[in-house]
Formats: sequence, C-alpha cells, structure tokens
Amino acid sequence: MSPEEFRTHGHRLIDWVADYWESLPALDVHSDIEPGDIRALLPSQAPEQPEPFDAVLDDLDRVVTGGLTHWQAPGWFAYFPANASFPSILGELAAAGLGQQGMLWATSPAATEIEAHVLDWLVELLGLPEAFATTGPGGGVMQMSASDSTHTALVVAREQARSRADPRGALPRTDDLVVYASTQAHSSVEKGARVAGYRHVRLVDVDEAYAMRPDALSAAVAADLAGGLTPAAVVSTIGTTGTTAVDPLRAIAAIARPAGMWHHVDAAYAGSAMICPELRWMQDGVDLVDSYTFNPHKWMFTNFDANVFYVADRAPLLETLSILPPYLRNKASESGEVLDYRDWHVPLGRRFRALKLWFVLRSYGAQGIRHHIREHLAWAAGLRDRLDADPRFTLVAPSPLALVTFRHSGGAEATRRLTEAVNASGHSRVTASVLDDEPFIRVSIGATTTREEHVQRLWHLLDSAAEPVEEPA
Ligand code: PLP
Repeated sequence: MSPEEFRTHGHRLIDWVADYWESLPALDVHSDIEPGDIRALLPSQAPEQPEPFDAVLDDLDRVVTGGLTHWQAPGWFAYFPANASFPSILGELAAAGLGQQGMLWATSPAATEIEAHVLDWLVELLGLPEAFATTGPGGGVMQMSASDSTHTALVVAREQARSRADPRGALPRTDDLVVYASTQAHSSVEKGARVAGYRHVRLVDVDEAYAMRPDALSAAVAADLAGGLTPAAVVSTIGTTGTTAVDPLRAIAAIARPAGMWHHVDAAYAGSAMICPELRWMQDGVDLVDSYTFNPHKWMFTNFDANVFYVADRAPLLETLSILPPYLRNKASESGEVLDYRDWHVPLGRRFRALKLWFVLRSYGAQGIRHHIREHLAWAAGLRDRLDADPRFTLVAPSPLALVTFRHSGGAEATRRLTEAVNASGHSRVTASVLDDEPFIRVSIGATTTREEHVQRLWHLLDSAAEPVEEPA
C-alpha cells in the first residue's frame, strides 16, 4: 500500500468509524447471533493472493458489525463502562502510525517521557500522593489491564516478604505467604495471587456496605501468624465490581504496615472519578499504601487498553523485575538519568499507550472529564432515588458512584424476569449479578454517548416492565 493509497483508505476508514458512532443510538446493543456465525462468513483458508483493500473495509459491515456487542451505545449500562472517545481513537491511530516500541528510554525517548509526564499529571489531578510521581521515589507506568497491575504488585509483595527474615532468622517460603482481600474483591486478585505462586488467599468478611471489615482482617492476620504463616499482601478495593463498595484504606493500612505487608489498591473503575475532589474521601489513607491501579479504559474516555499502575517507591519493583541482557545495555540507561519502562512490568516490548491518554486529557481538559463524570453521577443518583421511592424495587447497596444496584422486591424470579425484559428491549443493556445468594441488577452509567434521555428511557422501561408487588395490608 503506497502512502497515497493509505491516505485514501484511511479517509474512508475514518468516515466509517464516524458513521458507526453516529449509528450507535439506533443499534441493538447486543447481537443475537449464534456461536460460529461469524466464522461461517470467513473463508476456510487465509488468502493466498492479495485482496483489494476496499474489499477488506467492506467486510467491516458484512462480517464484523453484526457480531458486535455495542459497548459505546448510549443504552450501555452493563458491567462497567469501557468508554472510548474520538480524541482517544485518534491517539490510538497516531500510536499505530508511529510504530514505536518503547521498552527502553533509548528505543523511544518520546514514548517514555510523555508516559511519565502524563502519569505525573494524573497524580495531581486525582489527588494521589506526591510519592507516586516519577519526580519522587515512586512513579507510574501503563499496562494492559488492572489484572496485570495487581499481579505485578503481588509478585513484588512476594519478593519483599521472602526477603524478610522472621524473629528466628528464617526466610519465609512462598508456600507460607498469605494474600488478603475482601470477599467482594475482583477475581483478578485471586488470579494474580495464583499466577504469582501464592497458595493462601484469604477473602475477608465485609460490613453491611460490602466494605472490608478491618477487625476481620486483623483476626485473619493474627490467626495466620499463630499458624506459622507469613502475611505478605493485602489488596484493598475502591469501588468493588459488584456494588462499588469502598474499603477503608486508612484502617487497613494500620494493620498492613506493622505486619510488614504490601498494601495494593485496586481502583480499576473508581480511580477516574477521583478527578472530582468531592469523591476523594474514598481514597482517604492512600498516602499509606505501596501501590495503586486504575483503568482510564473504564471511565476516562480512553479506549481499551489503558491501565495505570503507581508505586510509592519504585526500588522494590525494579529490584524484582530488572534483568539486563547484554543486547539491552546502552549509555542512557547506564547514566541512571532515564526510566526504562521494561523494568516496570512483565512484558519487554511496549506500545505507546500514553499517546491516547495525552490526547484525551488535552482535548477534554480536566474540567471536561469532571463535567461528564459528574453528569453520570447525577443521573445515577436520580435513578437511585426513583427506584428507592417505588415499593416494587429494593436497593441492595449504597453504591456511591455511577452504579445503581437493586432487586425487584418480589424476589429472585421477579428480578430475573425484569432483567430479561430490559435486555430484550434491544436499546438498553444491564448486568444480572448475585449478592448474598440473591440475584440483583447492576445499572452502570458511563458510556461516552449516554445522555440523560437514555437513562430516562431505561427508567420508563423498568417502570413499565416491573411487576406490581402486593402492598402490605
Ligand atoms: N478490578 C475491578 C474492581 C474491576 O471492576 C475490574 C473489571 O471490571 C478489574 C479489576 C479487572 O480489570 P481489567 O479488565 O483491566 O483487568
């Protein structure tokens, strides 16, 4: 493909993407195709001969769009948002166009310095501790997912714990190390612990707001110490997946610190909202933790994949992950004046993820991001109030962010029927989940294209589909 042909096809593709976004309000959010339907549209063998690129682009309509779940649709209320935006899409295109591999400062000084700088901006914008900035002892790095960051934190925690002798001078074995998180923590904590080689993960009891109970953590740590095990790490969550519960970081830190445990915070969803100062009560105590992760690819208008991982002190991270083969030696690294991000995570090669985040921050401005997040919060609060005022619905948790969690007051079957009715509408999609063995409905507001009218439409749907409940006599 020549540069001239690239220009022509590129313009056509940008038009196609803009048309796709314009068509989103009219699309059914979920496609009802059967497994194998998309593969059946593809030839059984890879093309032996080159095809015209127009034919490739035509297949976006013929093959791809019919098999999509439209995460960017305005009626997307399922899971958590994965909210993309035009500035982010253009940033992704620019990153692909530049074709950088930023494993070392020397292999892409711009990729390294823009990433470090943008993540330092976010430390201030989100009210995070100064230690998290690369200008201090710690720093931030972008990875693919919160799961990767939590796994990385648990690997560092393992090495820290294994290097600390007990009072008898013995070094603990990995088999004796313990990780703690609440029963509401995301499954990535258990998965990350398993991949990091931990045999013991304790899921600590929660209070009535589904936040970790510090007294239960304390008791679990004491029981493990008495049993000869070594508490190595605790993962707190700001904004759990089920109900956006907020674990009390400060109280958890008061247990983790004296026990020498690594304290990691999973703020995958809630982290973006910390750009609003009025929500920062949720991260009270974050100055006492060792690492922190959040996903701009959830709620900061930056398309997947865009995860941020901060450490308060980068030395343990680098001690754990640095390996220097001769072919990566270079003057800049040896000068000690540059960051080599290959030492900050498992992969060696790395793409220019920060470019799209930089584009988003500059095009929206912090003010713009705050404005949209506050809209989502206000619409969620409005829906919560309506549900709370109607006896047919029962709220299940405080859910202090843009997630609304509720059941049909008539019980499990009525809740299931209501979920199915909403999802059968085509225009709106919610997630069914289970808490305390009872099904409930999660409505998560945060797609870039969602406006208040789409939340109103969802309310009208819930209102008309919900079965009546018998009024108490
Ligand atoms: N942590 C929390 C609280 C989440 O809600 C999620 C996903 O929704 C994750 C972690 C996993 O995020 P990722 O897909 O980036 O690994």
